Amino acid sequence: MKFKILTLFPEMYPGPIKYSIIGKALSKKIFSIETINIRKFSKLKSKSVDDKPFGGGAGMIIKPDILQSALDSIKRSKNSKIIYFSPRGKLLKQACSKDLIKYDELILICGRYEGIDERFLIHNNIQELSVGDYVLSGGEIASFILIDTCVRLIPEVLGNRNSLEFESFERHLLEYPQYTKPFEWNKIKVPDVLISGNHSKISKWREKKSIEKTKKTRPDLWKLYKSNEREKK
Ligand code: SAH
Repeated sequence: MKFKILTLFPEMYPGPIKYSIIGKALSKKIFSIETINIRKFSKLKSKSVDDKPFGGGAGMIIKPDILQSALDSIKRSKNSKIIYFSPRGKLLKQACSKDLIKYDELILICGRYEGIDERFLIHNNIQELSVGDYVLSGGEIASFILIDTCVRLIPEVLGNRNSLEFESFERHLLEYPQYTKPFEWNKIKVPDVLISGNHSKISKWREKKSIEKTKKTRPDLWKLYKSNEREKK
């Protein structure tokens, strides 16, 4: 999988994706990243890329012609998709990441300032993606999130596939609580069931805890889980 990133701050990469499991996958070339510096495509002496918004208002907008030259400079793969990070986009969810790893190449466009000229999105029919209901100061952090969540879904990346099956958001449930050694810590013991050796009992307990946690912290997911279970019956 290739990630090609249009950014005003290429020096931010590979940044956090250099570490741990994702970092290993990067050095093993299971995925690659390439940055395209938007500023390089400004024809102005000042290398400026933005201007004031038509109609007034705060901040600056990145110009469409500069973004287009940057995009056109990329040699595209056949199975490629373009994404613009934006708080106005569709919310990134686990299901969405699963869908995105079907592409060989993702072209990620990182905005800055007040954003980019709408015509660039219309002309290239670009999907907008948000990483959450809050405003970041640039798309780069969003790109790290997207890359991380996609890469860990690539089959060779996580050693133990089971660890994906029971993760949060599978079946619209959050993960059950986890414990490791020591058995007793700060006068709190690991629940007995987990050391019972009875796998069916353990599964049932974990399912129950997953449901309890989801119901309490994410009633929106809990509703989806309930309606899914009803459909199965
Ligand atoms: N004026 C815009 C926000 C611009 S923030 C608005 O109100 O919608 C600057 C850049 O940060 C955006 O162009 C976008 O690329 C990125 N960004 C900010 N919040 C984001 C989010 N929640 N998800 C993805 N990208 C985001």
